[in-house]
Amino acid sequence: MARGRLIVISGFSGAGKGTVVKRLVEKYNYSLSISATTREPREGEVDGRDYYFKTVDEFKSLIDYNGFIEWAQYVENYYGTPRKFVEEELAEGKDVILEIEVQGAMNIKSQYPDAMLIFITTKDIVTLKDRLVGRGSESADVVEKRIRRAAEEAETMPSYEYIIINDDLEACVDAVNSVVVADRCKKENQTEFLIDIKKQLEDYTR
Ligand code: 5GP
Repeated sequence: MARGRLIVISGFSGAGKGTVVKRLVEKYNYSLSISATTREPREGEVDGRDYYFKTVDEFKSLIDYNGFIEWAQYVENYYGTPRKFVEEELAEGKDVILEIEVQGAMNIKSQYPDAMLIFITTKDIVTLKDRLVGRGSESADVVEKRIRRAAEEAETMPSYEYIIINDDLEACVDAVNSVVVADRCKKENQTEFLIDIKKQLEDYTR
């Protein structure tokens, strides 16, 4: 069976990528990796569903035991992608979504060259700030830090293969799925199929 693909989704904090990813998993049949983090749960977040919430010591021991395929520090906290789930899902041929920030995305691309890198953004920075402030879960100081961080993240945008504007949720979700489907159809991702169909034709015309 062909291995699954890693679909890395990054974007500015506040660009709505969490909602996009949730809807992608609901609407289409993707597997979603749940990250570990040392940040405090936001209201309504559930351990094991949104994140695995860890202490700094627990997180560091997972690093020591090679428990992550990548991890990074973002603003004031650690975030990491658990290795076991991802490897098992890929081996079962499932496409796995990782919703991670840019350092993690670059790290994944160097380890998994066939990973697809997708960047989700708002149409402008005013919309981004409105969404961050509207979320109400972050202090003004953290909002400012996240916007400054967005400026750094924008530098790595050209390293992504696809940049998708999240203006309308359903349109954005469908655009992400479309690029994944289109990518699967590329000839370089169909080498086994090409060999097989050629062989079938040879057998048939023999
Ligand atoms: P938040 O605190 O808003 O949930 O996430 C902050 C940032 O960390 C987001 O950009 C999110 O995509 C990223 N993030 C979440 N999980 C991981 C992870 O496992 N690895 C990395 N590198 N970044 C992550």
